[in-house]
Amino acid sequence: MHSTCHGSPIMADDHRSLEPSQRVGFSGNRIDRQSETRPADALVKAKASADATYILFTEDRALVDTGRIPNTVRFPPDRAAELGLIDDTAVLLGNQADRPILAGTSARTPEELPDTIKAVDLRSLALGGNIAADELGAVAQGRSLLLWHETHRFCANCGQPTDMSIGGLRRDCPACGRFHFPRTDPVVIMLAIDGDRCLLGRSHRFQPGMYSCLAGFMEPGETIEDAVRRETAEESGIQIGCVRYHASQPWPFPSSLMIGCHGEALSFDIAMDVDELEDCRWFSRNAVHQLLSHTHPGNLICPPKFAIAHELIRAFADGEVGFV
Ligand SMILES: [Zn+2]
Repeated sequence: MHSTCHGSPIMADDHRSLEPSQRVGFSGNRIDRQSETRPADALVKAKASADATYILFTEDRALVDTGRIPNTVRFPPDRAAELGLIDDTAVLLGNQADRPILAGTSARTPEELPDTIKAVDLRSLALGGNIAADELGAVAQGRSLLLWHETHRFCANCGQPTDMSIGGLRRDCPACGRFHFPRTDPVVIMLAIDGDRCLLGRSHRFQPGMYSCLAGFMEPGETIEDAVRRETAEESGIQIGCVRYHASQPWPFPSSLMIGCHGEALSFDIAMDVDELEDCRWFSRNAVHQLLSHTHPGNLICPPKFAIAHELIRAFADGEVGFV
């Protein structure tokens, strides 16, 4: 698969379609953010455009028009207003097919919405597969950005109120002049491999029978590879040698980037962190196939297809990765 990335006249979008990251939820965003080129009045112009479309949120959920096939999260300006758009929450995500795409918060509660409009949490939206992949990516961008504005209304430097600028790309402090940019928090998620088996754990908060990859936040001054080795050792006691990046996933809960890797196990005796994990064990490749196909004799399962953990596990099960 990767060899096709070299030496042939492949267009940018074709490259993207070959990437494992495109197999996970929230990854299909096709919006041109115009981060460096948008003018200061871009948001005002976008709001005035009849071609604009809005992605709306209420109570951490996206509004979905289930009256259209396929379902959509995009609403024209007049419909967004009917659905309770709070105008000063609106941010400009960018352009797609020459149409401005905005995100905003609705004043309606889920119960106050019309019958065909459902407020759907983002995990269910990704799991359901009822909207286009590029819309799911735009939802992730919108949710993360709106939440950042909601929770960063005051300057971290001097404590004074800040103003949204550049259509939501930044917040500016009029008191001290400091600029503030939306944050993305990197998380490493990894699958340790020992030949024909891999290491999976279950957290106390998982649904019954669910086993997944280990994961944790990166720390300041750390490489991705060092974070994979540190987190795996902390949670399972397993030492990791070589680390290989596989895929990434925007994770809008609220604004993480999941960085998915495979790691070569150098030790094999599990010493689990009981505060983090309820169980941790090695699974054979055959057992992993059973987890993926929901045929495990113990009714054990792994995360669904939209999750990057599924992609890391699937790639191992299908023999696409390994360490020799
Ligand atoms: Zn300030």
